[in-house]
Amino acid sequence: MSYNQLFDLTGKRALVTGAGQGIGFELARGLASAGAEIIVNDIDPERLNAAAGKLRDEGATVHELGFDVTDTEQVAVSIDRFESETGAIDILVNNAGMQFRAPLEEFPVDRFDFMMRLNINSVFYVGQAVAKHMIERGAGKIVNICSVQTALARPSIAPYTASKGAVANLTKGMATDWAKHGLQINGLAPGYFKTELTSALVADEEFTAWLSARTPAGRWGEVNELVGACIFLSSKASSFVNGHVLYVDGGITSSL
Ligand code: NAP
Repeated sequence: MSYNQLFDLTGKRALVTGAGQGIGFELARGLASAGAEIIVNDIDPERLNAAAGKLRDEGATVHELGFDVTDTEQVAVSIDRFESETGAIDILVNNAGMQFRAPLEEFPVDRFDFMMRLNINSVFYVGQAVAKHMIERGAGKIVNICSVQTALARPSIAPYTASKGAVANLTKGMATDWAKHGLQINGLAPGYFKTELTSALVADEEFTAWLSARTPAGRWGEVNELVGACIFLSSKASSFVNGHVLYVDGGITSSL
């Protein structure tokens, strides 16, 4: 193999959860540009269909697989059916996630439970359902989307911080159990990126000024700046990288 093919995903099929918009959509687009066939997932069927259409317009081969990542029954049935009727899922990007802000002493218990189901339980549900098939084949790539909050807390988002810390540790656990079967499981931890999830913060001039001063790179990230790291963790280039969390954050977790 020539080294310039290390990042080539031709012949691979990649499932990205929560790919209807934001980071998931851009990661799906990036994996497609590296040669992968894409399986887009989202809970919202219209958004899923629109995202798939955009990727097809750009020349990608796209499958639509709508399911709720927090519903264990839907997850298992959807993954098993896709594997038996269409083919192997070689790459999984566990991206679907949410944010909810409130002072911890007032944080609603039902929002806490909901957030945990979406941000951490789903990584286990979808990861396990896909990994079973990857283990049979002796190969597979899983990229779990973590966060700058994997490492650092911020006021009013303690449950999110807990959930993203858990995603990083589940990533290490997955690597510990599954690396021997030929799988590479790693985390990709975005800093602050402009998406629907952060639209309120982007519009908040005070927050943006604080963030620009706090981040060594001095600005918000653009979602396309996550693509290179995702392709790396999804390709042969990372064949001996396992259980690692790669921060793409303009240096914010490296600096006080
Ligand atoms: P986003 O714009 O809200 O996109 C998330 C997508 O996931 C939405 O289309 C959402 O649909 C979908 N989704 C929600 N619940 C789902 C479910 N149960 N099953 C399937 N799909 C579901 O978020 P984003 O900013 O792109 O963030 C993506 C990931 O990156 C998250 O894990 C987030 O925690 C992480 N992250 C983001 C940032 C950032 O700066 N944006 C930074 C660090 C980490 P609905 O909108 O209909 O719910």
